[in-house]
Amino acid sequence: MRKRIVVLGASGSVGSQTVDVLTQHQDIFEVVALAVGTRVYFLEEYLDKYPLEYGCVQYYEDYLRIRDKYPDTKFFYGDEGLISLTSLENIDMVCNCLQGFVGLLPTLNAIEHKCDIAISNKESLVAAGKIVMEKAKLNKVNLIPVDSEHSAIFQTIRGNYKKDINKLIITASGGAFRDLNRKQLEDVTKEDALKHPRWNMGAKITVDSATMMNKGFEVIEAHVLFNIPYHQIDVILHPESIVHSMTEFTDKSVIAQLGVTDMRLPIQYALTYPRRINNNSEALSLTELETLTFKNMDYERFPLLDLAYIVGHLGGNMPAILNGANETAVDLFLEDKISFLDIERINFEVVRSAKEVAYIENPTLEQIIESNDWAVEKVKEILSK
Ligand code: MG
Repeated sequence: MRKRIVVLGASGSVGSQTVDVLTQHQDIFEVVALAVGTRVYFLEEYLDKYPLEYGCVQYYEDYLRIRDKYPDTKFFYGDEGLISLTSLENIDMVCNCLQGFVGLLPTLNAIEHKCDIAISNKESLVAAGKIVMEKAKLNKVNLIPVDSEHSAIFQTIRGNYKKDINKLIITASGGAFRDLNRKQLEDVTKEDALKHPRWNMGAKITVDSATMMNKGFEVIEAHVLFNIPYHQIDVILHPESIVHSMTEFTDKSVIAQLGVTDMRLPIQYALTYPRRINNNSEALSLTELETLTFKNMDYERFPLLDLAYIVGHLGGNMPAILNGANETAVDLFLEDKISFLDIERINFEVVRSAKEVAYIENPTLEQIIESNDWAVEKVKEILSK
């Protein structure tokens, strides 16, 4: 029996690499449904090569056109379409590769339908971590991390007792502006920010890597996924991105996971877990690399990493607020409406204001959604001043 898979956000960076892994291994995987946003051509290219039971696009006009073009596939559209795909019967795994807060409701819906999730949508875990994890536990659903750092930790803690974990050590490549000082950051452009030195990723996450917000969210994600307190989660700079993260145990033994810088590795592991299968990836040659370097993080250079720890400690709806503010600020930066350092300023201001007037210790899902909306509005308010 082939494993039946649904991929949400299939045309994005992680999504398209997920589809690549799945089509490389058609003997064990059956792609049942693909959801894309506006890149409908991605879905069409797939359908020209392979059959598909279900498809989903963002807009109604695209839905009408593609429905007529491929009569053998059943199509959905919009946010409700994502809910329809995560409600399907006889699905073994949903790969949630959506980007942003929009990924949260499909995650929760897949969990309610008792479907395991390969989770690449970190916003589900950052914004509503407690709700997502409690629901997963209740429904006995596995959330398998796809993010390379969390996949590494997930692999290093296997076969060990959780209580024997001393700390999680998350590695950070440093992003596009690793070697610039604060002064130099004032004039960087969108084009500069989108050149990531190691990983080939989508625009939003590449900017988040340059601001270090991505690493901050990964700290929150690790706290949520592995239920480890923040003071036991460290971040260290590792420019080569070969050690994907590590776990230190109580005996001070450190287990690391290494591999070439290719997202298809963690994606494939999430799909085949607990098995490992062959692929056409390059082998890692440590002798060719010769050196791997590690450095402490500079929290003054990367204040958003510090802010993520503060927000993580505060808990409640604060991570949702930071996520909402950051998502909006990065969009504005990508539209050339604010500068690179404005992303930081906005995030700090929204969090400061939220602490005073909008903090909720134990938010419901509805309050998480309201908090996200509140943060989006707050960014617009700051901008209009
Ligand atoms: Mg990552």
